[in-house]
Amino acid sequence: MTALNLHPSITPDLSLPCHPLKLQSSFLPMLRMSKGCHVDFPFGKNRCMSVRSLQKHGFRRKVTLPDEDMPRQWYNIIPDLPKPPPPPLNPRSLQPLCPDDLLPLFPRALIEQEVSLQTYIDIPEDVLDVYSSWRPTPLFRAKRLEEHLKTPARIYYKYEGFSPAGSHKSNTAVPQAWYNAQDGVKKLTTETGAGQWGSAIAFACSHFGIGCEVWQVRASYDQKPYRKIMMETWGAKVHPSPSNVTLAGRSILEKDPSSPGSLGIAVSEAVEAALADKETKYSLGSLLNHVLLHQTIIGEECVKQLAIIDETPDVIVGCTGGGSNFSGLAFPFIREKLKGKLNPVIRAVEPAACPSLTKGVYAYDFGDTAGITPLMKMHTLGHDFVPDPIHAGGLRYHGMAPLVSHLYELGFMEAISIPQIECFEAAIQFARLEGIIPAPEPTHALAAVIREAQHCRETGEEKVILMALCGHGHFDLSAYERYLAGQMVDLEYPEEKVAKALSSIPVVA
Ligand SMILES: *Cc1c(COP(=O)(O)O)cnc(C)c1O
Repeated sequence: MTALNLHPSITPDLSLPCHPLKLQSSFLPMLRMSKGCHVDFPFGKNRCMSVRSLQKHGFRRKVTLPDEDMPRQWYNIIPDLPKPPPPPLNPRSLQPLCPDDLLPLFPRALIEQEVSLQTYIDIPEDVLDVYSSWRPTPLFRAKRLEEHLKTPARIYYKYEGFSPAGSHKSNTAVPQAWYNAQDGVKKLTTETGAGQWGSAIAFACSHFGIGCEVWQVRASYDQKPYRKIMMETWGAKVHPSPSNVTLAGRSILEKDPSSPGSLGIAVSEAVEAALADKETKYSLGSLLNHVLLHQTIIGEECVKQLAIIDETPDVIVGCTGGGSNFSGLAFPFIREKLKGKLNPVIRAVEPAACPSLTKGVYAYDFGDTAGITPLMKMHTLGHDFVPDPIHAGGLRYHGMAPLVSHLYELGFMEAISIPQIECFEAAIQFARLEGIIPAPEPTHALAAVIREAQHCRETGEEKVILMALCGHGHFDLSAYERYLAGQMVDLEYPEEKVAKALSSIPVVA
């Protein structure tokens, strides 16, 4: 065997047999090419060393896909369901909405996607091109967390924090801005809770040369000034919500000048502003079918990544605000479940202070506080419910995506709620072991994963747990500061406030 000219501290390791590889069978198809001797290993020396380390540790820290394997279609789950979700209603006639009713708000292409019965929808080339600057995203194995928890479970997380705006939101911001630009729209208005959606859409609008105006929920506008600066850097105009530039905002401020705001209020303001100008349309970062559709690229990549390492998920966990990152990861796996190929438990995790799936009612309700959007059948806490200002701003929404609500009703998934201190405990543990500082929203998924992994330690089950780590927390450090200073509190589920909000849900026969 020809010796490789490597650093002496590395060389002894090479005396170990390079073959047979003690890796899982489908580990890396290319590795099989290296049969024989490591000298003609196709990757060169350094790669060979990393394979040595894989061999030594017997697992892969991360699974990446080459650019050419990036999925080229989004997956629409609706045609695969045994029953279609109930249609949105016109709030005046209470009749199913005509797609054209939405034209003042959305471009035709997105409305078509909203009601599409096509299982796969091609991703436009221009969108694929932008996606490819950060996609495919890696799938990581949380090995150090597993070891720390002494769990026999294997924990994987699909990380969406590498996008320019730092979360999964860019997956839908880019196509939304592109379809609007194609339609000749000059400006998009939107709301943002934690600032992640606002930054993603500001980035996407700047990319395609259209304007962007954002209403950022007051509580996060004050807590996260850097998110605002980020949006402004990409050229967006940002208002705190409630603001005095819209009727909806002014009417809230009259009743409560110090209102912390809510996503529902910010939606009212952004929709009102879009309706007031012909060349402006509105865009939503979660909830709607087309948004969930765009996010399925996450799960489509992940299906391929798990196949490479021959893993089948037993439990899939995601946090749910409006339901988009959760759906993006879970829907392609639900498709596989429907085909009978796998049977994972699919678990949504919501904050104890805003638990729309676990404590809300399944009813037609408005998507916004002022009641100007169509009525959607969803799990809701009532459209005028203003959640307490918890740190996971992206999860402070009164309703759940109609499609997620429907799947929940059909029994395809389950839901739990977790209070925020447990979530930040999990996040700190994760950051210290795995490095990544998660956004406050996915700390909910993380806390649920840790519960599951601890359960596996007790039962000895070697479950494969897959989690959506949908964004980083670099602009949410004030929440971490709070936690580290011991100042974070768990906010009780506001029973009375919810009861009051539920009483204002419109009555639909
Ligand atoms: C917006 C956001 C959420 C909540 O929205 P979903 O539609 O439920 O995904 C969760 N996490 C992050 C990082 C977000 O930006």
